[in-house]
Amino acid sequence: MKQTKIVATIGPASESKEVLHKMVEAGMNVVRLNFSHGEYAWHKAVINRVRELSHELDTPIGILADMQGPRIRTEVEEPIAVQKGTRVRLSDIARKEQLETIDIPTVLFDMTGIIDGVDIDHTVLIEDGIVELVVKEKNEHCVIAEAKNDGIIKNRKGVILPDSHLILSILSPKDKKDLRFVVEEGVDFVGLSFVGTAKDVEDVRSTMKEMFPEKTYFPKLVSKIERKEAIKNLTAIVKASDAVMVARGDLGVEMPESEVAILQKQIIAESLRAAKPVIVATQMLKSMTENPRPTRAEVSDVSNAVIDHADAVMLSEESAMGKYPVETVAMMAEIIGKTEESPFDDLYQTLDLNFHSEYATMLRSVYELAKSFHSKAILLLSMSGYTARLLSHFRPESKMFVATNNRNTYNELALVWGIDPYLFEDNQKLDTFIDCLMRETKKDAKLSIGDQVVVFHGRTPDQDTMRLVGIREIR
Ligand code: ATP
Ligand code: MG
Ligand code: MG
Repeated sequence: MKQTKIVATIGPASESKEVLHKMVEAGMNVVRLNFSHGEYAWHKAVINRVRELSHELDTPIGILADMQGPRIRTEVEEPIAVQKGTRVRLSDIARKEQLETIDIPTVLFDMTGIIDGVDIDHTVLIEDGIVELVVKEKNEHCVIAEAKNDGIIKNRKGVILPDSHLILSILSPKDKKDLRFVVEEGVDFVGLSFVGTAKDVEDVRSTMKEMFPEKTYFPKLVSKIERKEAIKNLTAIVKASDAVMVARGDLGVEMPESEVAILQKQIIAESLRAAKPVIVATQMLKSMTENPRPTRAEVSDVSNAVIDHADAVMLSEESAMGKYPVETVAMMAEIIGKTEESPFDDLYQTLDLNFHSEYATMLRSVYELAKSFHSKAILLLSMSGYTARLLSHFRPESKMFVATNNRNTYNELALVWGIDPYLFEDNQKLDTFIDCLMRETKKDAKLSIGDQVVVFHGRTPDQDTMRLVGIREIR
């Protein structure tokens, strides 16, 4: 079993139950739905298919609903081929009616009022900076910009305006609607695009609380680190979030590309110190969108993310619209497996947590115990997933089997490095969870008779004080 998890974006290439099934078997742990694309009916159908599969295969599959965020996108009737020096008119959808018919191609931004913040000399970056334009002329309802390179401006591609002053809330009106929908659908994670401050994350938490009655289950919040501002406020953002994503696409546009690999390492380390799961995203095996084999640089990139100790690596267009969604997941799993077999991903020294607690210290001793006895596995109970995340932070060499009575926790742990969760919905089984885990892991051929394991009985809901650490042998 691989320790590093795989998140895969679902799209037309992977929406069918058959392909989803194969992707799970190839090693996909979490499904990502990008709410920049697709109708509710489509998302709902995929969510249902994934939940069915999880039941049928008796395996946890997390669902991450990625909010578009205050992302400006292009609207063009036809793709526009530009060459260096080509002039393009830029405006926004609210001004569409006011625009005169002229002889140069027009690109609309899909957010009202955005064009007001764009001035002469400002840079306009389209589709992760593939096309760069510079504003030359400002008119009442539009600006005229000049392409700085050859390229194609396509429909619904992201726009970044690094120089322009934009007042945007972390949740657009569309995001609020989407958020309501995904909470009702009971997804496990919500991805927050363009987080800038810890307050952005807290704002989303309070919005959810205002929207729903008290006892509602709220998805875990995944902050996407992709803005300059987020790098400045990294520690506070990680603390306020449940998980983190290194969103390298936009990060490499807002920050110099040359710094992305280093930023990735910093963001991962910061997340590990806070015991928050962290995903590395964007272009990991991009060439497999078209080709059956990845480039050597891509293989190296996935390997490196594993060596950096990320919890998960992610696929975007490769699995959403590529020719080889299943093969791409399988390739990713293979690279992960080979890297984990090597000594290079081993932690020689665990990263210290950036907080202190008796409980965290206790888990360190569980980890140390398993390490000095070279135990095959650690068995533990985790209701909220916190105990499992704390233990995973040490990146132990032993396998980690976690019993939980909570289906949400079960799915959420699909994202956490090295954790293999087991669901025992019958509460009585929790008292005997160690026996249950031993029986099930033996049945799944993950442990066998004679294997030595460390067991840890953490907090239980009614007996907060009951804690037990011990070494046992599988019988
Ligand atoms: P983001 O900036 O949020 O990553 P993106 O447009 O780059 O947005 P990805 O999630 O990275 O989107 O997916 C890559 C591509 O896969 C998209 O540009 C789109 O063409 C396609 N895609 C993703 N999800 C869907 C979907 N649900 N339906 C149709 N196409 C999709
Ligand atoms: Mg993308
Ligand atoms: Mg190793």
